[in-house]
Amino acid sequence: MSFFVQFLGTGSALPTAKSNPSCQYIFCQNRHFLIDCGEGSQIQLRKAGIKLQKIDAIFISHLHGDHYFGLVGLLSSMHLLGREKDIHIYGPPPLENIVRSQVELGNSRLNFGLVFHPIEDQFEGLLFEDKVIEIKTFKLKHKIPTHGFLLHEKVKPRHLLGEKFREDELSIAHIPAFKEGRDSLTEEGEKLSFLDYTSAPDFSGSYAYCSDTAYCENIVQHIKGVDTLYHEATFTNQDEGRAKATKHSTAQQAAKIASLAEVKTLYFGHMSARYDDPKLHLKEAKEIFENTHYAKEGLQVRLS
Ligand SMILES: [Zn+2]
Ligand SMILES: [Zn+2]
Repeated sequence: MSFFVQFLGTGSALPTAKSNPSCQYIFCQNRHFLIDCGEGSQIQLRKAGIKLQKIDAIFISHLHGDHYFGLVGLLSSMHLLGREKDIHIYGPPPLENIVRSQVELGNSRLNFGLVFHPIEDQFEGLLFEDKVIEIKTFKLKHKIPTHGFLLHEKVKPRHLLGEKFREDELSIAHIPAFKEGRDSLTEEGEKLSFLDYTSAPDFSGSYAYCSDTAYCENIVQHIKGVDTLYHEATFTNQDEGRAKATKHSTAQQAAKIASLAEVKTLYFGHMSARYDDPKLHLKEAKEIFENTHYAKEGLQVRLS
């Protein structure tokens, strides 16, 4: 499995005995990311057996406490455990001051660098890119500036057909081009088609994260065709008025976004603590988008 998401916290604002505030762990070809870092995220990481020191970057959607109150605690534990490697933090501009003041006012210091990447309120676009993954952000519609995240695994190298390649006694110098899906030329200038020497690459996955948000069709253009969508569903239909007032979504609204964006699979979370279980959310969402699942804490979802 080269790309997966693990739900560590999928509760809403109030932590309960059954649910933790927002936090998701993303693994992609040896890159390790967190999306949101609610209170207790470091405990959830430990329970899941994920090493805190491996986290390369943390993406914070907005400054409601249930999405970042675990950040300073996590950073402090990373220090106690001997971290020296920088950590990258993407989030709303005030986050840097909040975190630095908490560290400094406690007369503490961290043995590693905090590299902040502020996401301006109106910004939509690329946040991070390397040779295996691209991470973009887009605006959500909530009470304060809030961003969603879109993760695209890049196209993987094609598989070399070793036998055919050896049979034709080709130079290994052709391999990089073939693996990237480009034709090559022999020394005599004869064209060699990559299709003759490679088979299709492994599947590359994509994932979108939308929490917290009112129903917002602007999201659709950004997440169109994504494989797996996580969308908040704080309420059910009977509390639609409350969803509107608090700028959250109902399960059916999340399902409508999934349907308009033509995603393959929808996971929902951020269910209000007023509900005992996700049954009604599931039932209502499935009326609009059949392939809906509850993002149960601990669940690992394969993305490629
Ligand atoms: Zn929230
Ligand atoms: Zn919020």
